[in-house]
Amino acid sequence: MSDKKVRVRFAPSPTGPLHIGGVRTALYNYLFAKQHGGDMLLRIEDTDSQRFVPGAEDYIIESLNWLGIKIDEGVGVGGPFGPYRQSERRDIYKKYVNQLLEAGKAYIAFDTPAELEARRSDVANFQYDASTRMSMRNSLSLSKEEVDALIAQGEQYVVRFRIEPNEDVVVNDVIRGEVTINSSILDDKVLYKSADELPTYHLANIVDDHLMEITHVIRGEEWLPSAPLHVLLYRAFEWTAPEFAHLPLLLKPDGNGKLSKRDGDRLGFPVFPLEWTDPKTGAISSGYRESGYLPEAVINFLALLGWNPGTDQEILSMDDLIHQFSLERCSKSGAKFDYEKGKWFNHKYIQMKSDAELARMFMPVLAEHGIHASEEKVEKVVALVKERVNFVKELWDQGSFFFVAPQLYDEKTVKKRWKAESPEQMAELAGVLESITDFTPHNTEEIVKAWIAEKEYHLGNIMNAFRLAIVGEPKGPHMFDIITVIGKAETIARLKRAIETI
Ligand code: GLU
Repeated sequence: MSDKKVRVRFAPSPTGPLHIGGVRTALYNYLFAKQHGGDMLLRIEDTDSQRFVPGAEDYIIESLNWLGIKIDEGVGVGGPFGPYRQSERRDIYKKYVNQLLEAGKAYIAFDTPAELEARRSDVANFQYDASTRMSMRNSLSLSKEEVDALIAQGEQYVVRFRIEPNEDVVVNDVIRGEVTINSSILDDKVLYKSADELPTYHLANIVDDHLMEITHVIRGEEWLPSAPLHVLLYRAFEWTAPEFAHLPLLLKPDGNGKLSKRDGDRLGFPVFPLEWTDPKTGAISSGYRESGYLPEAVINFLALLGWNPGTDQEILSMDDLIHQFSLERCSKSGAKFDYEKGKWFNHKYIQMKSDAELARMFMPVLAEHGIHASEEKVEKVVALVKERVNFVKELWDQGSFFFVAPQLYDEKTVKKRWKAESPEQMAELAGVLESITDFTPHNTEEIVKAWIAEKEYHLGNIMNAFRLAIVGEPKGPHMFDIITVIGKAETIARLKRAIETI
């Protein structure tokens, strides 16, 4: 690598919510930049006014913020190479389009959509290129006077890139090695449209990457087919091309093909970082944030979809990733989107949070259920049940009985666990507990077990009935931990209610 400062860009088009694959692209750019002490730019590629969706830009920025992918320069931050929204750079592109026209490396074409359509239906696999361009209406086939007259009449035109046929074009890709294609398969791509006075993606992208001094273009595999054209554009401008790295596709969790929003709907997982409401239809798509994922877990999960550290280490913080990431270790083949693994990561990251932090996250869930408990109690509950959950909201499913006494007793368990002698034994147990002053897990366990031994009761039968009375179901952590948290009075009250109701 040269000694130029590393500068990478994330260049999404604001055509809707950022897809999770786009998030991974942003992440890899960020990791690469930070590892090399470089800059991460955010450029908004909004030259396609037809596909512009309001709110998409804010959504992109909010997503990156939530995930801790920090932008050094660009939209929302500013910087010396702005503006960073392509729709605000029209004059710049115009200048470079003219430069290509003057050098004879591009030409003006007047063919209307209807004329192009007619040619396509006449000629199978019609391609606008060196073999056909002289039979079309453009500044190569028409005289200068005719061209000037058409423009003067206000005829709309496009500028096309003049691609020389039969030339090998080599793309050096850090992940894929040398990719060579023959220029004859390329068509004379449209670079500019007079109708909206805007460049197309290809021209704007190349001009901006050059002017913004981008050193590495790291983007999804879907852009690989455009790379030869981009190499030729750099050559036409006599600019040095940046390094390219085309990341592997994200694939469906099952079967073949690219991951799509439909896979998420079908299998029940989000494909967007944040919830998104379609501004036209009002349709809501779920997001990782709203589904209860921690941003650290999403980062870790995504980092390993297409890259691996070459060791068994699976839990990697953003700092670990910045140190260990390398484009060379990115795979060429697609990465299956194993969303179950995403849940596993969330589980792991929940275990790493302190009880106090988890309690704070759990409080709003409790409030939704009308529970307002002390932080101290919530912390204790969290400590006892967090091992059993993948998401904070599941703490409620696992621990609601700490806050509300069972209203119903699980029928199957009653049949199996509530014996004829249970009411009497539970009443006795209530008396034993009543007499304990030091109501700690260790002490209550010792005293209750001594009572069971002395009476020669069956330990399992007693404990099962006890759990049914306190929890209502055969679930939950250690009984003596539970009763310490809910307290002596509540424990005895629940025993009495069970005796009366079951
Ligand atoms: N605007 C393109 C996109 O939406 C950028 C592709 C590139 O990175 O060159 O992904």
